[in-house]
Amino acid sequence: MQLLLKSVDFAARAHRDQRRKGPAEEPYINHPIEVSRLIVECEPHTDETILCAAILHDVIEDCGATRDEIAACFNDAIADIVLEVSDDKALPRDDRKAKQVENAPNLTPGAKLVRLADKVANVGAMLTDTPIGWDEKQILAYVDWAEAVIAPCREVSDGLSARFDAIARDVRAVHSDDKEAVI
Ligand code: ZN
Repeated sequence: MQLLLKSVDFAARAHRDQRRKGPAEEPYINHPIEVSRLIVECEPHTDETILCAAILHDVIEDCGATRDEIAACFNDAIADIVLEVSDDKALPRDDRKAKQVENAPNLTPGAKLVRLADKVANVGAMLTDTPIGWDEKQILAYVDWAEAVIAPCREVSDGLSARFDAIARDVRAVHSDDKEAVI
């Protein structure tokens, strides 16, 4: 519990100037908190290491924290999972997205759990707090991409996989032009 709260403290400070992309402009920290909450709801016996990594999962990618910094503040196991789920921001956006699909089968089980819960949260946001400026086409393309990323991650949690499917179905129903086809 101590380590988990330390990770919330670390992530809240790291993300202090960031907001989610939706009109609610939620503080960014709400997102990693939701990701770890989804994991414990669906997989209640998850190790604290993975929950800490879920809380910290965007601090390398979005805040410039380093793997070594996380290893020093926490431990190598947490730092390695965070690194596994971090995109290389030096790459163009399309390359980063392609790499997530490509690398998903090689993730460790802990990283797969974080990846899966992250996509449940992000696809869920397409219903509750759609990113400003996104059109239907972009939203549907995002759901398709997220589905491809999580395909090899499903094995780590039936519960999270089922949540993903239910949310993806709802997003497609709400945002599709051809609503009859998806209901
Ligand atoms: Zn995330």
